[in-house]
Amino acid sequence: MDSKYKTGSLINGSSPQKNGPSQDDGHLPKKFRSDDSPHSKGYSNSSINKHRRSLPVFAVKNRLLDEINNSPTIIIIGETGSGKTTQIPQYIHEARLEKAGAIAITQPRRVAAITVALRVATEMGCAVGHTVGYAVRFEDVTRGDTKLKYLTDGMLLREALSDNLLMMYNVIILDEAHERTIHTDVLFGIVKQAQSIRRAKNFKPLKVILMSATMDVDHFSAYFDDAPIVYLQGRQYPVDIMRTTKSHEDYNFAILVTVFQIHREAPPNEDILVFLTGQEEIEAMVFNARLVAKDLMKSAPHLRVLPLYAALAQFQQLEVLRPGLPNTRKLILSTNIAETSITIPGVKYVIDSGMVKLRTHNPMTGMDSLKVQRISKAQAWQRAGRAGREGPGTCYRMYTEEEYNKMAEMTVPEIQRCNLSGVVLQLLAMGVNALSFDFMDKPPTESIMEAMRKLSHLNAILSVNHPELTPLGRQMATFPLDPHYSRVILAAWEMGCVEEVVTLVAVLSGENLRVTVSKRREDAAAAHQKFVSSTGDHITNLNIFRAYNSAAMKKQFCFDNFLNNRNLEYAGGVRSQLLDLCRHSNIPISSCGQDSDCIRKCLIAGLFGNLAQLQREGHYLTVGSNQVVAIHPSSVLFRSKPPLVIYGEVVQTGRCYMRQVSSIDPDWVAQMAPTEFQRKLCLNGAG
Ligand code: ADP
Ligand code: MG
Repeated sequence: MDSKYKTGSLINGSSPQKNGPSQDDGHLPKKFRSDDSPHSKGYSNSSINKHRRSLPVFAVKNRLLDEINNSPTIIIIGETGSGKTTQIPQYIHEARLEKAGAIAITQPRRVAAITVALRVATEMGCAVGHTVGYAVRFEDVTRGDTKLKYLTDGMLLREALSDNLLMMYNVIILDEAHERTIHTDVLFGIVKQAQSIRRAKNFKPLKVILMSATMDVDHFSAYFDDAPIVYLQGRQYPVDIMRTTKSHEDYNFAILVTVFQIHREAPPNEDILVFLTGQEEIEAMVFNARLVAKDLMKSAPHLRVLPLYAALAQFQQLEVLRPGLPNTRKLILSTNIAETSITIPGVKYVIDSGMVKLRTHNPMTGMDSLKVQRISKAQAWQRAGRAGREGPGTCYRMYTEEEYNKMAEMTVPEIQRCNLSGVVLQLLAMGVNALSFDFMDKPPTESIMEAMRKLSHLNAILSVNHPELTPLGRQMATFPLDPHYSRVILAAWEMGCVEEVVTLVAVLSGENLRVTVSKRREDAAAAHQKFVSSTGDHITNLNIFRAYNSAAMKKQFCFDNFLNNRNLEYAGGVRSQLLDLCRHSNIPISSCGQDSDCIRKCLIAGLFGNLAQLQREGHYLTVGSNQVVAIHPSSVLFRSKPPLVIYGEVVQTGRCYMRQVSSIDPDWVAQMAPTEFQRKLCLNGAG
């Protein structure tokens, strides 16, 4: 391979620039050594108490409670790991500030909501689901008397649908506020409104707390009527920043080289955290790192390679938080999930690819795509900071100083770059028009209008000028899904294939069912062949799920067929929840048996905006927006060229690739899509 990737020149090692990720208030005495940290000792009561007392927030507990007591809204800033998420809700509960109500703590990610709730339940010595619980999409582990409820921001927003004053809570903590997910951004407005209405009507007051490791505090404070800001002194040791001197086309290779350079030289208890972009990239690197580690078995310590991403099963995510084994190094390969929401003990080295996978939306073309792109400077510092939690550390950046300088200061809030149809629908279901909603940062009017147009095409609203929900729209809002998929399910009701379509939507809401990274690629392809439907990925996935569902020994079945047991299990869970929701809405669970055509017809009812037509020249153009797209290599239709296809999403990695692709009969479009789209199809036809 290219010699510029060799260890010596990879890193600007001669004069590392010592930019601590934040003010260097570090060099604090190391408060606990590895032998008395809770991670190394199981969870005895005394070690947990000791740990809790050692956290930076403990020192300011009383002052913090005073502040919380004194202002209706406060903003709390503190380094990751200082104890915000796990401790502050407990302090509030110990002081009974929530009174007869509950405390909601939102997290942008389901993983974080679950792991934190489990941790807090352990600290409080209770079972999760009692005093401490969590609620994430398709999983509610709470009771009526749950006091500390960790939930995703999306879940709290759903709760606001049925009660926009959120009366069951007396305290709402919007955590990781800096992430500015679409749901958190809408919640800012919802809680602000709930707080002022409750005040005006003399209802019980609502306390709002915003927490984050880094954020644009003045902007937040101004929006929340000059709310006071509390800074927690964090525990941050200096971190050496090393940058590459040349930019890398293949950062994956450069990262592996760096990992094994560290692995050969550093003491085995110093763990490595690598930031990558997504599940597939991570699994590929897990595979390669394990291969190399095996080769090195005799000359280096043992290396435990652990993936970390949102779709991972809970027990595997918890694996990352477990104490290290003697003479073993942990190598954690993570998405940006480890940036702020999860604190991983033992990390001394961070390797930052500089990239992140983000969902972006182009209102001009109407297309949503998952795009790998450069992180912001704020993210780069946040990532580097992970290396300095327990002592001085090092961060290797796989990008040059010049590339760093070109990064944006902050990540653009999701609400300003994403498809808004779901949010606009939810706001309408709460009786709010998005155009007049008090956003902290208003999304572009064009995005709101585009969302309105989409909802009108879906028959969810009367018209763009009369954005009033139709009965169909009201029903769509009850599903915790993108409105396009809710529409697909409601179409299945008419077509008599609810069971099949719900299964399909459940599968689509998770990750890949097939295992693609394996030493036995060809065997895997052969095993997958028996599920393949010539109509495309949707029915293929349905076949996989059906076979899995009827297998007696599910794990073995997955192993034999190179299928992902965990993703199938997840899909199974989502499926039963969706079926429950259907029953709840009096939608009968019909089935179409072997007739797969009606399933694909239903897809058109919701995804008519995602049609692509084969051109004479041999490429595909999206109907309506005329973008050149290609079928993703992982699709079962990769080598065939049906004249008209429907796709689930577009991923942009160099080219624009369609994923989840099925062929469609042009005649069905007339039956299922709004007239406007039928016209576009005729105009663009390749014949
Ligand atoms: P913050 O929200 O300020 O980033 P947290 O409250 O999440 O901090 O975490 C505080 C500390 O609690 C962490 O530094 C870690 O030591 C410990 N901790 C948090 N979650 C877990 C967990 N799931 N298992 C073990 N320890 C944990
Ligand atoms: Mg936190």
